[in-house]
Amino acid sequence: MIDLVSDTATKPTEGMRAAIAAAEVGDEQRGEDPSVNALCGRVADMLGFEAAILLPSGIMSNLVSVLVHCRPGDEIIAAANAHIVGSEGAGASALGGVQIRTIETPDGRFTAEAVRQRIRPAKARSPRTRVVWIEQTSNAGGGTVWRNETLDEIADVARESQCVMHMDGARLLNACVASNLKPDAYTRKFDSAWLDLSKGLGCPVGSVLAGSRSFIDEAWVWKHRLGGAMRQAGIIAAAGLYALDHHVQRLADDHVNARSLAAGLSQIEGVTIIGEGVETNLVFIDVSRTSRTAAEISEALIAREVRIGVADKYRMRAVTHLGIGRTDVQAVVEAFRSVITAGSTQKEKTHA
Ligand SMILES: *Cc1c(COP(=O)(O)O)cnc(C)c1O
Repeated sequence: MIDLVSDTATKPTEGMRAAIAAAEVGDEQRGEDPSVNALCGRVADMLGFEAAILLPSGIMSNLVSVLVHCRPGDEIIAAANAHIVGSEGAGASALGGVQIRTIETPDGRFTAEAVRQRIRPAKARSPRTRVVWIEQTSNAGGGTVWRNETLDEIADVARESQCVMHMDGARLLNACVASNLKPDAYTRKFDSAWLDLSKGLGCPVGSVLAGSRSFIDEAWVWKHRLGGAMRQAGIIAAAGLYALDHHVQRLADDHVNARSLAAGLSQIEGVTIIGEGVETNLVFIDVSRTSRTAAEISEALIAREVRIGVADKYRMRAVTHLGIGRTDVQAVVEAFRSVITAGSTQKEKTHA
């Protein structure tokens, strides 16, 4: 099966498994796991923060950030298609009593002006706008990369109103590799930011959240409360350290593969690629002119050993990652073509 449903499909490589097997470990809850401490120190440095904390998932990094930054009744400004809005079980409201004010934006990015318009004046009856939420890269926006100039402008607007800046950096390193900028170029005006180990970096589990010393101290309180404090978590951290050494620059291959997949698919009658060019490793495909639904195409692809995600009725999402090579991309394009062609001959037959 060629699995393009997500970059979470990655499995630990042999080198990563060897690093995991050799990991030095200790009690993470007590701050005594040397591998975890090394990973957190490294990510804090990369992202330009004082400290960092290992959490079991990206969702927990987002949730802990909300819980540290906000009080019940506070409001977050985020893109309407942000992961926190639709894919995190409404944790911000269920556990934090926090609501989200959204900005409609197909590509996931918005302007400083859009933020300015949504920051509420300080009034007893208004929610307190507290966080501006940025997803780098934007997942549902098509893997789009925010420009750091835009982020700086937004941060200036946020600061004027005592709002903090949070970065959901599940794929921050994809943005860095695509733009040839260091992570701290993007995070320099942020109060918290994290990256996922279990997406393109190819680790089995984990995310690392970074911020000021006092932010991370508070994050530890919530990590314990939520049951995210672990023991010999060096097993996880060793994979993360290995990935930072071996799996970052290679993200460029995923981007090349995503572009070549998009180019191949766009040659197929009725298939269009959404957005203005593939920037990283996510490809959104519009199949509305193929006379088949995304679900039908997905099912037919599975019979040909290819998995592509269904985004909605006529949209699909394909994600490249370290388990996908160039020949796989060609095979996917061929499988897609044969599904669409088979579909149209069948239609012609029924008409005849
Ligand atoms: C995957 C993802 C998350 C959640 O990360 P998990 O590690 O799966 O919990 C959050 N935000 C974005 C943008 C993501 O793509």
